[in-house]
Amino acid sequence: MPANTEERFMPPQWAFDFHGHRCPFMPLGYRMGILALERLAVTREMDHTLHVICELGEGHPQTCLMDGIQAASGATFGKTLIEKTYWGKLAATFWYPGKTAVRYGLRSSFLDAFGSQEFFAYRKRGIEPSGIPAAVTDAAIAWTLAQPDEAVFDVAERADFSYQPPKGSFNRTACSVCGEYVFERYVRMRDGQPVCIPCSGYKG
Ligand SMILES: [Zn+2]
Ligand SMILES: [Zn+2]
Repeated sequence: MPANTEERFMPPQWAFDFHGHRCPFMPLGYRMGILALERLAVTREMDHTLHVICELGEGHPQTCLMDGIQAASGATFGKTLIEKTYWGKLAATFWYPGKTAVRYGLRSSFLDAFGSQEFFAYRKRGIEPSGIPAAVTDAAIAWTLAQPDEAVFDVAERADFSYQPPKGSFNRTACSVCGEYVFERYVRMRDGQPVCIPCSGYKG
């Protein structure tokens, strides 16, 4: 384990490229993901085992955390390993079968102190991260890296956390209306014929 916090927790360049801009929250999510993997004693997810249940929502700031979590943990949206509860909270629970799930949240005291960084003055004026001077953003990232883990994250084991990943199936059926394939769990029946959800006339 490298002693240098910056080496451990600074996301690789590809993660910034994927994310699209430099900001402090993607790196905070990356750090959260690295710490959670270490805590669970698992390696970055290659396939479909680790699941991350984020408490973030939409239409609020700091959701960039989730790109960092994905980059670090390998629990990606495309592998359907990350989901949201839409609670509007900056926390995530990492679940791995046979292990005690662990929840990481950004401490309120950390967020309050972090808010005095110049980066947020730009954000409050409506300036997007890509328009903020690099030195200002890098100072915000460096400030987070200078804080010890215990100051940044509230960590709680969740022995009571139960999660059941959806059962996978390769089965698919052609919709009797549009002809397109639909995977089994999403097939609906209309007049005794299999249909896809958009052709079914009802929502969900
Ligand atoms: Zn961002
Ligand atoms: Zn259809």
